Amino acid sequence: MSAPFLFRFTRDLRIDDHAGLAEAAAHGEVIPVLVIDRATETRVGRSPRRAAFFCAAVAALDATLRERGSRLIVRRGAPGPALKSIARACGASGVAWSASYEAETMRADVRLQSELEEAGLRASIVHDAAAISPEEIVQARPENDRGYRAFAPYFDLWRTLPVHAYDLPVLLRFAATELQSEGLPMPNEFGAQERAAHDGGSVHARERLARFLAERAVQYAVAVNVPADDATSHLSADLTFGTISAREVVRATRRRLDDPFLLTEERASLRLYLRSIALRDFFLQLAHFHPETEDAPLQERMAAFAAARSHAALDAWRGGKTGYPLVDAGIRQLHETGWMHPHIRAVAASFLCFDLGVDWRVGRDEWEHWLIEDDRALSTGNWQWIAGVGADMAQYPRIYNPEKQRRRFDPAGTYVKRWIPELRHAPVGALRANDEQLTLPLFASDGYARPVVDHEAAARAYLERYRAYVGR
Ligand SMILES: Cc1cc2nc3c(=O)[nH]c(=O)nc-3n(C[C@H](O)[C@H](O)[C@H](O)COP(=O)(O)OP(=O)(O)OC[C@H]3O[C@@H](n4cnc5c(N)ncnc54)[C@H](O)[C@@H]3O)c2cc1C
Repeated sequence: MSAPFLFRFTRDLRIDDHAGLAEAAAHGEVIPVLVIDRATETRVGRSPRRAAFFCAAVAALDATLRERGSRLIVRRGAPGPALKSIARACGASGVAWSASYEAETMRADVRLQSELEEAGLRASIVHDAAAISPEEIVQARPENDRGYRAFAPYFDLWRTLPVHAYDLPVLLRFAATELQSEGLPMPNEFGAQERAAHDGGSVHARERLARFLAERAVQYAVAVNVPADDATSHLSADLTFGTISAREVVRATRRRLDDPFLLTEERASLRLYLRSIALRDFFLQLAHFHPETEDAPLQERMAAFAAARSHAALDAWRGGKTGYPLVDAGIRQLHETGWMHPHIRAVAASFLCFDLGVDWRVGRDEWEHWLIEDDRALSTGNWQWIAGVGADMAQYPRIYNPEKQRRRFDPAGTYVKRWIPELRHAPVGALRANDEQLTLPLFASDGYARPVVDHEAAARAYLERYRAYVGR
C-alpha cells in the first residue's frame, strides 16, 4: 500500500470539487491537516467577524471529515516543522496545498516547498481558488505567459474556456491515523469576542448559491447597483475561505442559463454574474503573475502621483460621518455586518481617493479590519481600479458624484435610512433634492454630519492635478 499524503487546508475549507485534495488523493490516502501559523492568525484576527466565520467553516469541515471516518489534524506554529513532524509520524510521502494569491504568502509557500523537499517530501502547490486558474489561462494563450493586465481581452478568453470539475474522486480515501490533534480554532484565540458565526461552511454556502440562483440571479443587473434590495449573492466570504468552489458557482450559473424560458434581460443578468466571477479570476491571475502590484500601482506611470496618507476628514470617512449619505450608509453597513454592497463600495472608495485625495492603500487597509472576506488580490485590484491606477484603462478616473448616485440608486432613501439612524425621519423630499441643492448640507438639521468637503470643488481640483501629472 502506498504511503499516505498530507493535504494542508488553508483557504479551501471544503472537500467537494477541490483541486488540491484531488492532487493529494492521487498520491495516496489523505491525512487532512490545518496549520494555524502567524500569517493566518494575523489576517483572520484582523476582523472579529472574519475570525468567527473562519472558525465556523473549520468546524464544519472537521464535521464533514468525521462523517467520512477522518478528522482535521490541527497544529499551531510554523508550517514547515509542523508538516514535517506530522509526515514523520505517519510516514507520509508528501504534502499538497492550495496556491495563495497574496504576495507574502506566495513567497512563504516557495520557501516551504523547498524546506519540505529538502526533508525528502514531495510538495505540491495547486491552483484551486479561481474557476479558471492562471495556469489554464496560460495554457490557452501561451504567448501571454505573464497573464493579462486588462480585463476585456481576459474575459473574451475566459468565457470560452471550460470549467473543470474535481468531483469527489473515487480514489479519495482518508488514512486512519492515531495522530493527536490540537483543538479546533475558536474565535477568542483571535481576540474576537463574537460567538462562532452560524453560517460558515459548505452547507450554508451551497444554500446561499442555490437560493440566489433560484430567486435573485435573474435580476442581478439591477441588484448589483441598487443597494436597498440587498439582492447580490453574498458569496464573497465563502469564496475567500473556499467553503464553495468558484468552479461550482460558474457551473451552476451556466446550468441556470440553459433554462429555455428565460427572458433576454434575465439571461443578461446571469451573464453579468458570470462576469463578476471572471473579474475575481482576473484579479487572482493579476496577483499571481504580478505580485509586485500588491502595494504598487499596476499602471507604472502612476507610481509617482502623490496621494495623501491623511486628510482632516479621514476619520469622518472611516466612521461614516462625511455628510454624504450614500458613502456613510455604506461604511456603517460595513461596520455593522462585515459586508458592503458592491456599488456602494465603489462610491465610498471613490470618495476617499478623489474627494479626499487619500491613497487607495489607506482605504484598502482600513476595510480589511471590517470585511469578513479577506482577499488581498481582490481588494487591491478593486481599489486600484477605482483609484484609476490599476487595470481599468479608462482615460480619466471615474469620479462618482455621491449625491447623484444616491438619487439614482436609492431614490426613496430606503438604504440610507436603514443604516443612518439620524436620517430615519428625514423627509423623502429632502432626499430627492434637485441638482442645485446638492451641495447644501441638506440633512444637517436632523443631527446628521455636514458635508466634510464640497464634492464638485474637490473633484475639479483632483482632475486638474491628475491632468497636470499625466500631461507632464
Ligand atoms: C473598493 C472595492 C473594494 C473591494 N474589495 C473586495 C474585497 O476585499 N474582497 C472581495 O471579495 N471583493 C471586493 N470587492 C468586489 C465586490 O464589491 C465584492 O466582491 C462584492 O461586493 C461581494 O458581494 P457579493 O458576494 O454579494 O457579490 P456578487 O455581486 O454577488 O458577486 C459574486 C462574487 O463575484 C466576485 N466579485 C464580484 N464583483 C467583483 C469585483 N469587482 N472584483 C472581484 N471579485 C468580484 C466576488 O467573489 C463575489 O462574491 C471590492 C470592490 C470595490 C469597489
